[in-house]
Amino acid sequence: MELKFECTQCGKCCHQPSGHTVLSPVDVRRLATSLRSDVKKFIDSYCYLLRTRIVEGSKEIFETWDLCLRKSNTGCVFINEKLCGVQDVKPLTCRAFPFLGNVDYVKLCMEEQNYCEGFGRGKSFSERQVELELSKNRRAFLDDNEELIINNMDIRKIFDVSSSNCVEEVISDDKLVLF
Ligand code: SF4
Ligand code: SF4
Repeated sequence: MELKFECTQCGKCCHQPSGHTVLSPVDVRRLATSLRSDVKKFIDSYCYLLRTRIVEGSKEIFETWDLCLRKSNTGCVFINEKLCGVQDVKPLTCRAFPFLGNVDYVKLCMEEQNYCEGFGRGKSFSERQVELELSKNRRAFLDDNEELIINNMDIRKIFDVSSSNCVEEVISDDKLVLF
């Protein structure tokens, strides 16, 4: 696999109404601080709760509870025309794109996120370099989510989160992308 990628900052990914921008505990605190908000107010104003049930066949084997950035039908709550309103403190998943998960997931992004102008432009990455980027982001993901991992992937054990604004998803374990 060889990948060419350079973000043009076109903002199209931020305008997608579908998909979830999942936040780590570090993202939540960093964004709240940057907006001079306390964490509870930040969560109430800008986040929703995502419950993901992971199933094997018809049997649930695990569930995760995450906080995600709210969206409207024009995209992320923080997109302003083409610009990210929290550029300096944007979540790790936004900073790491498209080097997320594993090589197969990067390939899937190239196929499915064909609105992204960044693919096919700029710097070339060999498969080895893609692996290095993935590994760097994996370390950052594990560091930023350490508290969540300790708390059994349940963000409700870390922050005071209302369950009234909750979205539910079911994912088959063979579709799960692990960092
Ligand atoms: S936080 Fe910024 S970069 Fe991430 S989806 Fe929202 S507008 Fe885009
Ligand atoms: S769609 Fe692609 S090129 Fe455009 S801002 Fe998002 S990552 Fe960058």
